[in-house]
Order: sequence, then C-alpha cells, then structure tokens
Amino acid sequence: MSTIAANISTLEQRIRTAALVAHRDPASVGLLAVSKTKPASDLREAHADGLRDFGENYLQEALSKQVELADLPLCWHFIGPIQSNKTRAIAENFSWVHSVDRLKIAQRLSEQRPEGLEPLNLCIQVNVSGEASKSGCTPQDLPQLAAAVMALPRVKLRGLMAIPEPTEDPAAQAAAFATVRTLQESLNLELDTLSMGMSHDLEAAIAQGATWVRIGTALFGARDYGQP
Ligand SMILES: *Cc1c(COP(=O)(O)O)cnc(C)c1O
Repeated sequence: MSTIAANISTLEQRIRTAALVAHRDPASVGLLAVSKTKPASDLREAHADGLRDFGENYLQEALSKQVELADLPLCWHFIGPIQSNKTRAIAENFSWVHSVDRLKIAQRLSEQRPEGLEPLNLCIQVNVSGEASKSGCTPQDLPQLAAAVMALPRVKLRGLMAIPEPTEDPAAQAAAFATVRTLQESLNLELDTLSMGMSHDLEAAIAQGATWVRIGTALFGARDYGQP
C-alpha cells in the first residue's frame, strides 16, 4: 500500500472511532484533504483512494491544480485567508469557502458567483483564541455577520469554521471546540456544518460535533514551504 493510501486508512479509522465514542454516525464526519503545497499527483492518488473533497489555501496554487486535475470529479474548498481582489476567482472555481470573516468578502462572493452554478457554500471563520489568532470574526461580531450572510442570494451559509490555538492538552482542545459548537447553537439558524479539527486534534473536534475535519499532515505528510 502507498503511504497516502495507508494514511487514509488510518485516518478513516481514527474518524470512525472518534465518532462512535461520541455516539455519532461516522458518515456524518467528512474528511477534507488539505493539499496546500502538495503536487497534483498526490491529490490524484488520494482521489484514487476514495477522497473527493480537497481544501486549498493559496488561490494561484489551487487554480493550477484544478487545471491539472480537470479530468477528475473533485469538490474544491477554499480554506485560506481571502483578499477582496481574489473573490471573483474563488466564486467561480470553488464549491465551498470555509474562511469568510467579514461581510464585504461574503457580499463579493455572492455577487460574483456565476448564475449557472449552485450557490456557494460558506462557513464563517470564528476566532475562539482571542489575541492568539488574527483570522476570524470575533464571537461578539458573529450574530450580526451570520444574519447578514444569510440574506445574500448566491451563497448559502452552512456553519462555522475555527482554527483554535494549537495545544496538546485534550481539555483545552475540547473547550475550544465546545465554544465553537455553542456559538453555532446560539445563532439559532438552520446550520449543518462545523469545520473544525486538524491532524493533531480531530478526535476532540469530532467529540464536539465537527462535520468536516481538515487534514493535511496526517494524510500527505509534513509540508515543505521551501526556503524563504
Ligand atoms: C494547513 C491547514 C489545515 C491542515 O493542518 P494539518 O495540521 O496539516 O492537518 C487545516 N486547516 C487549515 C485552515 C489549514 O490552513
């Protein structure tokens, strides 16, 4: 078995075990393959091993992989920080955006989503680690932002995304993910998605209701960003 195939099998087992421990259906947790910095050949292999959803952080890199992999029926998720001059290409070339953190970006995505495509699925990224993270809207701003995004015509608000401060402490992991879940519940909207949990903390995220775990390192191996 190849390394990627073996990693997928290990991850599927981790997800299944975590879901069963939490009395959840393992099928309710999606595995989003985070493929930033990885070559198209790695994604092709992961697809051959059964994966369909891929998350990318950098627009140009994602677009060139989309061209290389145009023969495959992949579902593309944008998960990185978004500058407003990038929204058109994102609206045209992705099915999901997990990293919306301000209204202006959501408005542009809605305006620029082509009519012939399904509404763009959005998650609002929320910052649950305070000063430790600069990305994401604050919990205070979330209700107003969520209500405004719900009203936009060409996007569909699906839920929340978070990247809590990394920690190996299971209690701290659980507390951060529980905060995201509680924030989602307190919105009282019909949302079905919690995008949270990465290679090192997917079990804690699944215990708190994650529906997408975003996995890079445990799937494709360590990333090499090259020399600065
Ligand atoms: C890189 C990245 C991941 C994957 O992290 P790993 O620890 O490698 O699993 C998940 N989510 C986002 C937003 C990322 O940028």
